Amino acid sequence: MAEQLNPDGRVALITGANKGIGLEIAKGLAAKGVTVLIGARNSAAGAEAASALRETGAKADSVRIDLTDEQSITSAAAEIEQQFGKLDILVNNAGISPERGKEPSESDVGLMRTTYETNVFGTVAVTNAMVPLLRKSDAGRIVNVSSGLGSFALRAGPDAPLSSMRSLAYNSSKTALNAATANYANEFEGSSLKINSANPGLCATDLTKGKGRPAAEGAAIAVELALVGPDGPNGGFFDDKGRVPW
Ligand code: NAP
Repeated sequence: MAEQLNPDGRVALITGANKGIGLEIAKGLAAKGVTVLIGARNSAAGAEAASALRETGAKADSVRIDLTDEQSITSAAAEIEQQFGKLDILVNNAGISPERGKEPSESDVGLMRTTYETNVFGTVAVTNAMVPLLRKSDAGRIVNVSSGLGSFALRAGPDAPLSSMRSLAYNSSKTALNAATANYANEFEGSSLKINSANPGLCATDLTKGKGRPAAEGAAIAVELALVGPDGPNGGFFDDKGRVPW
């Protein structure tokens, strides 16, 4: 990908960073010299992860942020503004998949709403709260942690590579997240802000009950997109092999 920004002095908020892929994204950015804010809905878990990172020499702190709690989002933005006066990187990583292994015709609409509350509406709420701070950066970057399961091209039709994965709630929530990426990108075009979707691929985390490759490998594309330079992409969907079809 295009040239990367100098990470020195940059501040990143990663949601859902107390474990899994989010924690690995935080580690990856911290290893490059970025100051990382571990976003966590559980304050103790966030503080513990930040403390462990500081012990490795990283510049790390934690902030309580629950995507389903508007007040926590407003408070997190105010805290970041007070401490840093800006935000350079927002990684919208927090996500859930409470319903797995059901056919679309069996899906529970209530669980679908719950999934959207976090993966879509909460992510939009966090983004909108942080955009004013990202505009204060000389090069604000947003990475939406999506999934190949959100791709129409990889999922639609019987011959599509992911056609056997049919969790309507989760898959469509990631498609909606990708739509958000494309719409924000159009708004940001011509400004110093950039937004992209990242597909980590199947990673061994609590979400997948340990199935998949190491989370650090899935995190790498989000770290890369968080630091793309001025010639880097805006409004794209990427994994560690390159562009992912929408
Ligand atoms: P994970 O280990 O279950 O971690 C999810 C993180 O999100 C946790 O920190 C969790 O906090 C947090 N979270 C959930 N709901 C939240 C809310 N309402 N507010 C704030 N934080 C919340 O899952 P993961 O596999 O690392 O997933 C991270 C992202 O990658 C998700 O968006 C997921 O959809 C995406 N993804 C994962 C895979 C994969 O194979 N693992 C593949 C493609 C995409 P708690 O610890 O408090 O629960």
